[in-house]
Formats: sequence, C-alpha cells, structure tokens
Amino acid sequence: MKTVWEKADAKTISAIMTFGDEYRSFLGKTKTEREFVKEARALAEAKGFKDLAAKKGKLKAGDKVYAVNRNKNLCLFVIGKKPLTDGLNILGAHIDSPRLDLKQHPIYEKDGLVLLDTHYYGGIKKYQWVARPMALHGVVCKTDGTTVEICIGEKADDPVVGISDLLIHLAAEQMKKPASTVVEGEALNVLAGSIPMKGAEKDPVKAYLLDLLKEQYDIEEDDFVSAEIEVVPAEAPRDYGLDRSMVLGYGHDDRVCAYTSMRAILEMKKPERTSCCILVDKEEIGSVGATGMQSRWFESLLAKLLAMQGSESMVALNDCLNNSKMLSSDVSAAFDPNYPEVNDPKNCAYFGGGIVFNKYTGARGKSGSNDANAEYVAEVRRAMQKGDITFQTSELGAVDVGGGGTIAYILGNLNMDVIDAGIAVHNMHAPSEIVSKADVYEGYRAYQAFLTYMGE
Ligand code: MN
Ligand code: MN
Repeated sequence: MKTVWEKADAKTISAIMTFGDEYRSFLGKTKTEREFVKEARALAEAKGFKDLAAKKGKLKAGDKVYAVNRNKNLCLFVIGKKPLTDGLNILGAHIDSPRLDLKQHPIYEKDGLVLLDTHYYGGIKKYQWVARPMALHGVVCKTDGTTVEICIGEKADDPVVGISDLLIHLAAEQMKKPASTVVEGEALNVLAGSIPMKGAEKDPVKAYLLDLLKEQYDIEEDDFVSAEIEVVPAEAPRDYGLDRSMVLGYGHDDRVCAYTSMRAILEMKKPERTSCCILVDKEEIGSVGATGMQSRWFESLLAKLLAMQGSESMVALNDCLNNSKMLSSDVSAAFDPNYPEVNDPKNCAYFGGGIVFNKYTGARGKSGSNDANAEYVAEVRRAMQKGDITFQTSELGAVDVGGGGTIAYILGNLNMDVIDAGIAVHNMHAPSEIVSKADVYEGYRAYQAFLTYMGE
C-alpha cells in the first residue's frame, strides 16, 4: 500500500501541511460541542450559508442553508439541482468528546481545599485524566434567562485546574490495583482553590471561591444546578513528530471528521444531489436525547426543506430518506506498533493510509453494527476512484478483542445506505489523541468526492 505521503508531490505536501495548520487551530478553539457549533456557524455564514429559520420562499439549486439545534447540533445543506425526493448525499459526524462534567452540586470544601465533583462523560481510562492541566468550558444558565459563558484555562495567563494523583512514594497499595480501578470515577475531583475567606465561620475556602465567582461571573452556587461545565485538557493542540506529520490534541474523536466534513460542504457550489453535513452531539453516550443522532430533529429538518420545495407528504419524506446516501464519519483505531496484538494487520488502518472505510463495526460477532451493503460499498469505491482518493479499509480491532459503535445504524434504520468512514487515531479517548495530517487532508478530499460523485 502506498501512503498519501508517498503519492504526494511537493504541492500536495504543502497543501496537507496548510490544511493541518488550519485544522489544528480550529481544534484548539472548539473543545466542546457548543464551541464547535459557534465556530462552525461563523465559518458557514462567512461562506454565504443562511439560517434556515430566516429563509423565505422556495429553495432553489445552489441555495446554502444551515440549522442549529439547542446550540449543540448543526446541520448544513447545499441544495442540489435534483429534487430532494431523489435523496441527499450526507456526511455525518459527532462533535462531543469524552470529558469530565461538573455535577449539579459540584463545589465542596474538604481539609482546607475546595474541590469540584465531576461525573465522567463517555468511555475513558480514568487514570489518564489525573495529574495534568485542565480547563473549564461551558455555560451557566440563570433563572433570569441569561447565560454566562465560561472558559478558564486557555489563555497563557489563565489559571488551570486539575485532579491530583497519589505520589509514587506512597502508592505501594494503589499500584497493586487493576488499571480499571486504580483511579475511581468518584475520585475524579478537581482542585479549584485553597485561600480561606477571613472571618468566615463555615467552609471558608469554599466561601472565598463563591465570592470570586460572584464577582467575576455574577453566578451563585445554586446556578450550577442549571449549568453545563466541561472539564477538558487545557493544552492547545500541537504538531507531533519531529517531521510535524501529525497533530496531537484533545477531541480528534470526532472533531477531525466533523471539521473535514464541514470544510468539504462549505466548498460545494451547485451539486447535482443536495449536499448535507449533520454534526451531532451525545454520540459518546449512545446518541440519545434531543441533540443526539437518534433525535427526530434531522427528519423534521428534511420535512421542512421538502415543504420549501412544495412536497409536504410523508411519501416525499420517505422517498428522500430511502434515496439518500450517507458516510457516517467517525475515527478509526490506527495500528500502533506498541500494541500490535489487538489488530488483524490485513484489516486495520494505518497512519498515512488515507480515509478509512469500516464496512462494519460492532462487537462480539458484529453485534450492533450497520454492516454496509456490498452494492453500496462498490458505489463508494467508484466515487473514491473518480476523486482519486487514497483509502483503506479496517475493522475496529481483531475478532473478539473489543469493538464499538457509531451513528451509522441510526441512519440505516431510516432505510438509507450508510457506511462508516473516518480518520485513524492513536490514543483514542485519551486526553491527547493523535492523527496524521495526510489522513486529515485525504479525509477532507474524500468527503468532497462523496458529495460530488455519489449517485452520479
Ligand atoms: Mn467517535
Ligand atoms: Mn469515541
């Protein structure tokens, strides 16, 4: 297999590096689903996309529209020349990532320190999240209807927070524990302060912190009940490797697929079939809830678009869904020479191998997998050939080693053709994940080819 690097001429290498720089900088600004939606919306508006809610009259070919659901879920469309009932070419990815969320009553004082209690979100190795600088990102929604945005730990002179780990000198007992329990979920408590308020009778360190929060953000302790504060790694993404061929950062899963999919649709002009890019929340906890892929929001959006083309029947909506073609884009596990035993080397992804297609995911005999139709896989291969895209195919690990799922089956349940596609990562779900810049660029090109050539 020739890698993207080996095939690239000097001009392409320079394009790969530039695209990698743009991605790295975007990733550093979007550590939560809300931040991603905000930044993506700004980029879309700069490219001429209009808020669907404000759009009047009939939709015509070349129209660019977007919709936002509860500030966490974004969908972009470029209307095609063919009617929507002929189906869409859809790119889907998720913009939530594993992290620690503050509990609703997070703040407490113990032994002269003030701590913030958390509940982890998504599948993590808990021991990876201690003894490192962390930032607080999110919103505090107050009963007067206002929202206070929080982002602490990103500027060079901001303070950071974090979770302590036991010193090695006193860890003899701890080190005997299995990795799954060496750091327990309930022990993921964030150290947030140590100055006591003079004269306070009860919990003086907590009182000092609450005072600070009131002064700097105008929030009270009770306001945390209606807040969403995510504790995320504080570092900015960095070039990785002495040759700068990779990017290390928090949340490649799945913002690397979301960013590249979004970049692909932002550049569509007047496609044959309508282009769509749906970026969802809650994938890491099962795609549930109003902003997850299982929400009916997506179908209701399509019904609205159809109505704007004069088709209001359920039959039209079903035709649109049945004729749509989708890439469920999510990260794959890149082969890791430190852990070769977890993969079948013939059926796994490699850094530099280009976009990864997973015909199926799942676990224990493909359970829970979408398993794309062979006919559809052939159609996707044809589109990749037309776009001269370097791709590879993969399974998530060797048989019975583990497994996982994506949003693919949810769209499959709507009776559309779906295949899993994405970019390979090292350290998946760790605070710092790694991708190859060649794969990021090739992913972006693959998404363009999919939007352009599928259904031709
Ligand atoms: Mn994912
Ligand atoms: Mn994940």
